[in-house]
Amino acid sequence: MTAGPLSDLVDVRHLRWQNDGLCKETDPEAFYPLATGGTNGREGKRICAACPAQLMCLDWGLHHERYGIWGGTSVNERIQLRKQLGIREPTEDIEEDE
Ligand code: SF4
Repeated sequence: MTAGPLSDLVDVRHLRWQNDGLCKETDPEAFYPLATGGTNGREGKRICAACPAQLMCLDWGLHHERYGIWGGTSVNERIQLRKQLGIREPTEDIEEDE
């Protein structure tokens, strides 16, 4: 395999853990509770707790995602973790190519 630009490597990493994620088989509304006006994210967090991709997802979420449940953490929990770990707030969410 030939190494491509860094952006390609990030995309591959993103896709790899998503393939292992339990959320791909569940209701997406469980992971975006504020956007949908639904639950407080408890159901999404419950699913994340059993997910084999949780650590990769949390790492991604801390660095790239401002909204939703990622790696078992809420928006506010990631804000606190970023402060504790010295991680800059993401400026925009990364959208996947269709
Ligand atoms: S940790 Fe949660 S949000 Fe992340 S891939 Fe797993 S189920 Fe999906």
